[in-house]
Amino acid sequence: MNRLQCVMLDLDGTIYLGNRLFPYTADFLARLTRLGIGCLFLTNNSSRSTDAYLEKLARMGIQTDASHILISSHAAANYLNAHFPEKRVFLLGTDSMRREMESRGIRLCEDDPEVLLAGFDTDLNYDRLTKFANFVADGLPYIATHPDRVCPAEHGFLPDLGSIMELIFACCGRRPDVVCGKPEEQILIAAEQRTGFSREHLLMVGDRLTTDIAIGQWGVKTCLVLSGEARKEDIPGAPIAPTYVFPTLYELGLAIEKARKNE
Ligand SMILES: [Mg+2]
Repeated sequence: MNRLQCVMLDLDGTIYLGNRLFPYTADFLARLTRLGIGCLFLTNNSSRSTDAYLEKLARMGIQTDASHILISSHAAANYLNAHFPEKRVFLLGTDSMRREMESRGIRLCEDDPEVLLAGFDTDLNYDRLTKFANFVADGLPYIATHPDRVCPAEHGFLPDLGSIMELIFACCGRRPDVVCGKPEEQILIAAEQRTGFSREHLLMVGDRLTTDIAIGQWGVKTCLVLSGEARKEDIPGAPIAPTYVFPTLYELGLAIEKARKNE
């Protein structure tokens, strides 16, 4: 941990559960600040805007700014700007995501797209889904923000983008050409660009083995916290093993501080 410069933190299940901040989160963040270690809040949920996350964190007493929020939609915008500059993009996504993309210079269009982008559209409309699926069947480049099949919710779960992608696969026989969020590399590249640190100096912390921890495949260290989805007994079946496992952020904070003192 002695090369650690910045901690990337998943949100739900890691720093809070639903609308309840974990009791140790504020102390963990203060400890990082004291040790001169940065933090980046990193989420796959592309249905919400940067401002929505800032408001949610502020309601829980965490004051931060837009530079510390990285959403899979941001990684998708970077990818589109790098690989499909100036191209017309058809978006399956919320109004919030629409604004995030437009503010990053993405040209959105309705009728004659050159590229398709799927986000987590919690206002999913059957006509737009039909339009999107037909563009996919036409063979246009097809990008998705993230692969999660379910999103945790207060009562049960929400069918997430990964499930919508399976629906599109069922009718078109295609899955996305590129997925940008965790566990894929685009969001790690976006995090490197945002923080200015290369991946050896970053640590991804989260509660989901298939996304937060599987991003370890790209050479970044990972820490599983057992405060959310994954149980200890799930670890042997994980696609990629976590570098570290702690019950919560509290124990991770202690370990980081100890490692710093021993340097
Ligand atoms: Mg989580």
